Amino acid sequence: MTNPIYGKLDSIIGHGPDGKSYLGQDDFVEVRHRNIRLAFHVRNRLIDLARLLGTIRRILEKLAVDLNLPVPEIEIEIFQDKTEWVERHTLINEAELPSWIQGDSGRVIRIVMDDEKIATLEALQLMITHEVVHFSLHRHVGRSLPAWLDEGLAVFCSQNLPSSYADELSRASAGNALLSLEMLASPFTRMDRGTQRLAYAQSTAAVEYIVKKFGWPLVREMLDACRRGESPEHALKQKGLNYYLLEKECLRK
Ligand SMILES: [Zn+2]
Repeated sequence: MTNPIYGKLDSIIGHGPDGKSYLGQDDFVEVRHRNIRLAFHVRNRLIDLARLLGTIRRILEKLAVDLNLPVPEIEIEIFQDKTEWVERHTLINEAELPSWIQGDSGRVIRIVMDDEKIATLEALQLMITHEVVHFSLHRHVGRSLPAWLDEGLAVFCSQNLPSSYADELSRASAGNALLSLEMLASPFTRMDRGTQRLAYAQSTAAVEYIVKKFGWPLVREMLDACRRGESPEHALKQKGLNYYLLEKECLRK
């Protein structure tokens, strides 16, 4: 390990099979850098530790600046396959693995590498960014956050909407088959793939519209409303907006 990043870490712990003192190819290592704990397999060739730590720091800083979210202690574990992910998992079962992202964001962010969607470091960075947004929002706001605001922010902060999702949105818009934001308040996990793509696309369009038209302060007020157990629609009303208008306005080109 000659990469200079290792000299800056607070600790590296190897979890090998026989308690040996060097890091072997099969080891699951755990590194700490200030508020971040990152665990991964040494054999995972995609891991570039310096860039991943940078990715995590960047999104945490963005959330602190734009949304005033406190910087949390964050734990991320990166597994090689779904079996290993399920074994470590304590919060939800395999059937609930989200399709959008091969990971989840309970107490620990757990990511699975077994999908062709994670073929590059960039894909892994995108996924980690997406999950860190969920993690920070859940920590700060709690579970009363509607799914559309949660997913919309996670996608908007991490990437451009993939074209297959944008296509689904255009088709639904042309065919008057859009979902209502009330419907999108519940998690998208039980939807079929096409509806799920539409749900993500509509949620992202709504968040994008709010941020571009009114800026981050309105998003902050929506999150505060959720924290108080109110609907984020309360915060929209001071701008003369409601869910119905938001559904229409955010799709206007
Ligand atoms: Zn998500």
